[in-house]
Amino acid sequence: TKRVWVLGNGQLGAMLSHAGQPLAIEVLPVDIMAPSDEKLPLADDDIITAEREQWPESSLSLQLSTHKNFINGPVFGRLADRYTQKSLLDELKVATAPWELVDDNTDVNALYGKYGERVLMKRRTGGYDGKGQHWLKQAENGQIPADWRGEAIAEQAINFDEEVSVVGVRTHTGECFFYPLTLNLHQDGILMASVSPLPRLVPLQAEAETMLGTIMNGLNYVGVMAMECFRVGDHLLVNELAPRVHNSGHWTQAGTHMDQFQLHLRALCHLPIQQPQVNFPCVMVNLIGIDKDDRWLSLPNAELFWYAKEVRPGRKVGHLNLSVHSKTMLEHSISQLKSWMPTQYQAPLQWILDNAD
Ligand code: ATP
Ligand code: MG
Ligand code: MG
Repeated sequence: TKRVWVLGNGQLGAMLSHAGQPLAIEVLPVDIMAPSDEKLPLADDDIITAEREQWPESSLSLQLSTHKNFINGPVFGRLADRYTQKSLLDELKVATAPWELVDDNTDVNALYGKYGERVLMKRRTGGYDGKGQHWLKQAENGQIPADWRGEAIAEQAINFDEEVSVVGVRTHTGECFFYPLTLNLHQDGILMASVSPLPRLVPLQAEAETMLGTIMNGLNYVGVMAMECFRVGDHLLVNELAPRVHNSGHWTQAGTHMDQFQLHLRALCHLPIQQPQVNFPCVMVNLIGIDKDDRWLSLPNAELFWYAKEVRPGRKVGHLNLSVHSKTMLEHSISQLKSWMPTQYQAPLQWILDNAD
């Protein structure tokens, strides 16, 4: 049996384990925060991956990150820091939102002059689900907080038409495969829902594949990577990259013959990979700060992934994949969900109905 260790033991690690089972790949997520001196039984030919791009140094994380088969090792740090991530995009000439480093010499008025009256600062590291962002607004005389200097980048506010992402994989021989583009809805910086594939996104697929292919090749990357983009007219701008399986790829669990978790494991273990086939369109609804409701299971086209985490406001605790076999079935399921779910879900569920065809 092949063994793949995962740095981190959240839901992504759990779903990697689930995907490894039918291939007899033993996936072992590690809680690297555990205060443990335990010596992990790592073998020379074990493979190490990560479900997060950043982690604190601990006895356990060091054992994993210093193993010779820690795949993509140097990539994590490079993409975990938005300064080096955006620099990489510029070096590779991949279009991204115009940006610069915020340091001791950055003059806020120069930022307004260059990018416009709204400028988005993002912490270089640690941000997720829209945390670690700070809007500078000229009209409100917004200033750069002292503790953001050196620790943040400033980005032009993009007046995008919509947000999309693409999940791709690169094998150790440099072959790349991609899923169809996914349409994403974010609310307050956090992913609420995804729809994929969509006929109207097909014209953007080639551009998305070229961009992500350039990035994965440039990094000599192996495994699954996700690229979040803004669609502005007929073109894409990269928002950010994730060197791992990604929330906006969860629909592949229901909609394809090979989901992103299995794809990642196949690439890591040098198993054959072909173009993933889409069985049917899917929508994904993130379950955020909401208690588990078994009525969801009564929907004819729903698959529930419940992460068994403590429910807290704003925390991702599960997701629902709904396959779209017919418009009628989707409409039925979404209207049921609307009647069961709280206010903050009404807009995303309506958005799904408005966009899923
Ligand atoms: P994630 O959970 O996806 O890792 P994050 O906290 O790393 O999120 P981003 O993806 O950079 O943050 O931004 C979160 C959301 O904020 C984006 O999906 C988008 O809706 C909005 N956003 C980010 N950058 C910009 C921008 N330059 N202009 C306008 N909106 C933006
Ligand atoms: Mg992010
Ligand atoms: Mg993001």
